[in-house]
Amino acid sequence: MGKKDKEFVKEITPRAEDYSQWYLDVILKAQMMDYSPVKGCMVIRPYGFTLWENMQAGLDERIKATGHRNAYFPLFIPESLLQKEADHVEGFAPEVAWVTHGGNEKLSERLLVRPTSETIICEMFSRWIQSYRDLPVLMNQWCNVVRWEKVTRPFLRTSEFLWQEGHTAHRSEEEAEEHTLRMLEVYRDFVENDLAVPVVKGQKTENEKFAGARETYSIEALMSDGKALQAGTSHNLGTHFAKVFDITYLDSDGELKHVWQTSWGVSTRLVGAIIMVHGDDRGLVLPPKVAPTQVILVPIAPKKVREEVLPKAAAIYEEIKEAGIRIEMDDREEYSPGWKFNEWEMKGVPLRIEVGPRDLEAGQAVLARRDNGEKETVAIGDLKARVPILLGEIQANMFEKAKNFREENTYRTDDYEEFKKIIEEKRGFVISRWCGHGECEQAIKEETKATIRCIPFNLEASPGKCLRCGTESDKLVYFARAY
Ligand code: AMP
Repeated sequence: MGKKDKEFVKEITPRAEDYSQWYLDVILKAQMMDYSPVKGCMVIRPYGFTLWENMQAGLDERIKATGHRNAYFPLFIPESLLQKEADHVEGFAPEVAWVTHGGNEKLSERLLVRPTSETIICEMFSRWIQSYRDLPVLMNQWCNVVRWEKVTRPFLRTSEFLWQEGHTAHRSEEEAEEHTLRMLEVYRDFVENDLAVPVVKGQKTENEKFAGARETYSIEALMSDGKALQAGTSHNLGTHFAKVFDITYLDSDGELKHVWQTSWGVSTRLVGAIIMVHGDDRGLVLPPKVAPTQVILVPIAPKKVREEVLPKAAAIYEEIKEAGIRIEMDDREEYSPGWKFNEWEMKGVPLRIEVGPRDLEAGQAVLARRDNGEKETVAIGDLKARVPILLGEIQANMFEKAKNFREENTYRTDDYEEFKKIIEEKRGFVISRWCGHGECEQAIKEETKATIRCIPFNLEASPGKCLRCGTESDKLVYFARAY
C-alpha cells in the first residue's frame, strides 16, 4: 500500500481492530446513511437508498411472479385492533409508538404506529373474504414500520425501518404451510442470488417465533465477524388471527370456515447484511446485481492530453450505458486518478475501467475488479461484451467467497464446554444437539449469549444427547451469537 493509499483508508477503522467501528466508518464515509435528530431513526442517503431500490426491484419482481399484488394500508392502527390477538399484543406492546393527540385534542382511542400490519389487514380481510371463490388472497405491502427498539444500529436494527410485508389467506392448512415455505424459498433465492449472501433455511423455536404465529421460519446469514443475522422471516399464522378477526368463508360444502394465513417480511436490515458479509478494510464491496453503480469509468487525463482522452472515454461510457449497465464516469479535474480509485473502491463499485492516453493509443482499457483486485487489459472494441461477463463472475465469486467463509466458520459439537469455547473465542455457527425445551434454550442463552438461530431443513436427524442437559435428542440446531 502506498502512502496516499494509507492516508485514504486510515479513516476506516480496520475490522480486526474494532468491527463495530469499521461498520459505522464504512456506512458514513460511503454516504449510505446519516444519523438523524431522532434517536434510533436514520436518514438513508441517496447512495444507500438507490441500493435499497435495486434490492426492492429484484424482490418485488419475485413477489409478483408468485401471484401477489401490492397494496397499501394505513400507518395508524386503532388500539382495539391490536388488543384482539393476545400473543400479538404481548409481543409488540413494549415496542409500540402511540399517537394520543390530533393537534391539541386528545383522541378518544389511541392509535399505534404500525409495528407490523397483521391486525389492520385482518380487519380488512374479514370484510373482503366471504366465499371459497375469494381465496387465496395474496397481497404485499412496501412501507415503513416503527418498533421502539432499546438498542439500535444503522440498518440492522432501527426504530423506524423500511420493509415489505406479505399477507395471504388460504382455504386449507396445507396450502398455508406450503405458501409460508414458498415465500421463504423466494427470500433464499433473492438473498443468495441478488445479494450474494448465503443463508441457512430453517424453523424458529417456540421462544423465538413471531408473536401470534403458529410457526415461524427464517433465513439466517453469517456476518464476517462470526455473528449471525436473521435475514428474513416467514410465518404460518394458522387460524389464530382469523378466529379473533372473524375471517370466515363459505366453503363449497356449504360450511362456514376460518381462513388459514401467512405473513412474511424482509427489511432494510438486508443492507446491513450486504455490508457486513462482503465489506473489507477498504470499504464496501457491493454485489453487481444491486450495486447503484456497477462500473466506474476513470479517464486518466492529465491537462495536456485531456482534450484527446475525454471524448474517447465518453464514447466508451455511452456504449456501455447503452448495453444496460449502470456505469458512471468520474472526470472531475480536482482529484487525481489514485484518489478516485480509492474513493470508488470504498464505495464498493464492482468494476473499474481505466483509460489513459497510452491505453487509447494501443486501443485498449484496463479493467479492475473490486472483489479480488485483479486487473486485465481489454481491447476497447471488446469492452461491451467483456464487462457483463465480468460482472457475472464477480457476483458468483462474491457468493462463493461468502459461502466458504461460512463453511469455515461452522462448527459441530455436542460437548457444552467445547461449545462455550467456540462461541467465546471463534464465534460462527455451531451445530449442536438440543433437547427441544425452552428452559434449556434460555439457559444456554444466559450462559453463552448464543441463541438458536433455527432448526435447519438441511440436516438429517440422528440420535444423541442435548449439549447442555444430556437428554436423548435427535434434534440438530444452529446456534450463534446474533445481531
Ligand atoms: P418480523 O415481523 O419480526 O418477523 O420481522 C420481519 C423482518 O424484519 C425480519 O427479517 C427481521 O429481521 C426484520 N426486522 C425486525 N426488526 C427490525 C428492526 N428493528 N430493524 C430492521 N429490521 C428489523
